[in-house]
Amino acid sequence: MKYVSTRGTAPELTFEQAMMTGLARDGGLYVPDVIPTLTHEQIADMAGQSYEEIAFTVMRPFIGDTFTDDEFRGLIETAYSGFRHAARAPIKQLDSNHFLMELFHGPTLAFKDFAMQLIGQMFQASLTRSGKRITIVGATSGDTGSAAIEAFRGLKNVDVFILYPHGRVSEVQRRQMTTPTESNVHALAMDGDFDDCQAALKDMFNDFDFRDGVNLAGVNSINWGRVLAQVVYFFSSAVSVGAPARRVNFTVPTGNFGDIFAGYIAKRMGLPIDQLVIATNQNDILHRTLQTGAQTKEGVTPSISPSMDIQVSSNFERALFEAYGRDGATVAAQMDELKSKGAFTISQGAIDMLRGTFASGRASEDETYAAITDELTRSGELLCPHSAVGVKVADDFQSATPMITLATAHPAKFPAAVEQATGQHPPLPPHMADLYDRDERVTRVANDMVALQTLIKERIAK
Ligand SMILES: *Cc1c(COP(=O)(O)O)cnc(C)c1O
Repeated sequence: MKYVSTRGTAPELTFEQAMMTGLARDGGLYVPDVIPTLTHEQIADMAGQSYEEIAFTVMRPFIGDTFTDDEFRGLIETAYSGFRHAARAPIKQLDSNHFLMELFHGPTLAFKDFAMQLIGQMFQASLTRSGKRITIVGATSGDTGSAAIEAFRGLKNVDVFILYPHGRVSEVQRRQMTTPTESNVHALAMDGDFDDCQAALKDMFNDFDFRDGVNLAGVNSINWGRVLAQVVYFFSSAVSVGAPARRVNFTVPTGNFGDIFAGYIAKRMGLPIDQLVIATNQNDILHRTLQTGAQTKEGVTPSISPSMDIQVSSNFERALFEAYGRDGATVAAQMDELKSKGAFTISQGAIDMLRGTFASGRASEDETYAAITDELTRSGELLCPHSAVGVKVADDFQSATPMITLATAHPAKFPAAVEQATGQHPPLPPHMADLYDRDERVTRVANDMVALQTLIKERIAK
């Protein structure tokens, strides 16, 4: 299995190289050169299997000879052993034909743990073998950062720097990033919004002297390993509601398009998914893109679902690459337009392809609060604001096909919004009950790439 860049000119890499590289050198994102498929029988066999067994079957065809089967099984086993639910991604029934997949039973209470815990294991295995040392720099709207820190804290051959937008993450998210005491963890609060953090990160990757000098590695969802780990739960959940005999739909609360792109890969692998519904908050660039056929950047308005407060949706590039029949030159031209003009128009053929697979909807702030309130009455389920955006959009999407909505974070991660909607204060689980008492450690930084590079070089020299 080889990996190719969505912009067509970076060298082809193995799974291990693509995972350790992050962003391709032509500015693109790595994708497998062929998407493997599973047979109807292989999918049917997943009924009754553990999450770990399903994970092995789904991911094995993508990893080539990076790990032996035994090694890979061991990494999967360790990655999910810290989850606090035996099913890992349990399904709750909300209504006759609507199901909720809870993806918040990992150590930092958001779905990012599914990928990050596994990536942590895979990075460690690879670095132990090569003896290399790497510098991870990540940009976060809140949950990626805490999940990455949790996965890499204390590892000997890794420094982890996390850039988050100052003042724009929830207090629980911030404390999860600023309270770990390990010296290889560096939380950086940047002046700006998430898009500024992500742009600074991409600029660092495109500065090859810096990139090679510090052995830069990325764990944002530009990293193929992240997307791959997320493909698994589309299979495990679909099978538990009757696939492959029954078809299913999914609604995915979306920001950077990573999670929903994992659903697209599951569909391409043979899982009978009809529609993948993009759910956005008031920062609805992806909803507008699908409606109008043009992607136009506007400002970010902070919302109660901050992990989706995004205007530059990195992984959409992977979907575009597929929509353009894997024509890297066209993708590169459109991405250049987005960067220089803040907008681009998708060709008729490509937008038709996207609309055949993806539907979309948005939830305003009021609708999000209302969804939290109503769902508590309807089914007793307490939703985080991101999951509530998903449930609202899924309820608007009329179909006889069973719908699975992804619950992307635990309500206790966003207690203010949940309390305003329901009057209930969702308590933190016991393993982080003392989060508010721990000391915080964070460095405030300007939106200035050179200053950031200097700080990173100084820290890793110590
Ligand atoms: C990251 C995140 C999202 C958005 O996921 P993408 O893969 O970036 O689309 C939604 N909800 C929560 C809670 C998140 O942490």
